[in-house]
Amino acid sequence: MNRTLAIIKPDAVENHRSGAILAHLEREGFVVRAARLVRLSRAEAEAFYEVHRGRAFYPDLVEFMTSGPCLPLVLERDNAVAHYRAVIGATDPAEAAEGTIRKLFAESKGRNAVHGSDSDENATREIGFFFPEHELAGLWGQA
Ligand code: ATP
Ligand code: MG
Repeated sequence: MNRTLAIIKPDAVENHRSGAILAHLEREGFVVRAARLVRLSRAEAEAFYEVHRGRAFYPDLVEFMTSGPCLPLVLERDNAVAHYRAVIGATDPAEAAEGTIRKLFAESKGRNAVHGSDSDENATREIGFFFPEHELAGLWGQA
């Protein structure tokens, strides 16, 4: 079993698609290990997407990700990073395969419903960005 960091982005939360997306992910065998509804500050969105700083779409991306609440999730299953990326489909919904989350729920390449980590290393970094280790352990530890 391993983990990935997913975010249901502000467009999908605003359009009341969170439940449908969670149901889709649970049908795919992902277990929700942690979840939080958060409104990112500009500094947080800039830091989360630091790797894209300098790209033409970066200001719009930061603007969009701070435009309303989003729902970060820690998802677990075998081959979590690769399987999740297959389930969400291509970044641009126009290029996403039939039945993928972005094909079903995304509006555009910018407003594309969900985020997913792109490697195990980045999954660890991104999970830590939203969920402190002691909080994660406490969720599923002894009551
Ligand atoms: P994510 O990291 O959100 O899971 P991704 O890995 O498929 O998506 P990245 O290349 O990491 O895509 O880009 C991060 C995000 O930036 C994309 O999800 C999208 O919202 C936005 N983005 C990327 N390229 C463009 C573009 N050319 N025009 C508009 N938005 C873009
Ligand atoms: Mg990415």
